Amino acid sequence: MRTTRIILIPVLFVFLCGFGETLDADKVYICKGKGSKKYHYNKHCRGLSRCSTKIYEVTLEKAKEMGRTLCGWED
Ligand SMILES: [Zn+2]
Repeated sequence: MRTTRIILIPVLFVFLCGFGETLDADKVYICKGKGSKKYHYNKHCRGLSRCSTKIYEVTLEKAKEMGRTLCGWED
């Protein structure tokens, strides 16, 4: 009982406080096909199903650096 609580508190703390940061480190999926300018949170998104190349996993930050915007199917 006591051990459980000792473990659980730091985990909760990291989860709550690290939330803003982990959002920036989020993985998104992009297609590198011609004319592809979007990023996707969902690997199985409709927008990615038409992708002609491999689907790449990058951080959200990186996707934005590449000038990507969020896919129209997701928001
Ligand atoms: Zn999408």
